Amino acid sequence: MKAPRFAYARPASVAEALALLAQHKDEARVLAGGQSLVPMLNFRVAAPKVLVDINRIAGLSGNQGCEEPHPHRRAHAPRRA
Ligand SMILES: Cc1cc2nc3c(=O)[nH]c(=O)nc-3n(C[C@H](O)[C@H](O)[C@H](O)COP(=O)(O)OP(=O)(O)OC[C@H]3O[C@@H](n4cnc5c(N)ncnc54)[C@H](O)[C@@H]3O)c2cc1C
Repeated sequence: MKAPRFAYARPASVAEALALLAQHKDEARVLAGGQSLVPMLNFRVAAPKVLVDINRIAGLSGNQGCEEPHPHRRAHAPRRA
């Protein structure tokens, strides 16, 4: 199956991404790693008019160690192996 037609946006900042999501409301979906969303598009379970790709937004990837309230790691989405 092929994904339905959608407009693709690649914001360079969180503010730009939020503005796109506010502008397109329910017709927009965030694209992070695509591990769930791309199969949903292909099976036409999801059919957003706009995909907002957050993969190029600085500060939204990687992970960091945190000590509070206990030692743990915080993963930012999208997470690249
Ligand atoms: C081979 C395979 C094995 C898996 N095994 C497991 C497993 O063992 N346990 C498990 O729990 N899961 C498992 N998963 C599911 C996997 O965890 C999810 O597919 C993955 O977490 C989705 O993350 P993503 O970044 O790819 O999101 P995407 O597919 O890009 O997005 C998923 C949904 O979240 C929304 N979204 C994504 N990022 C944001 C954001 N920053 N803000 C708002 N909305 C957002 C998207 O719009 C979409 O609706 C597996 C998936 C695959 C393909």
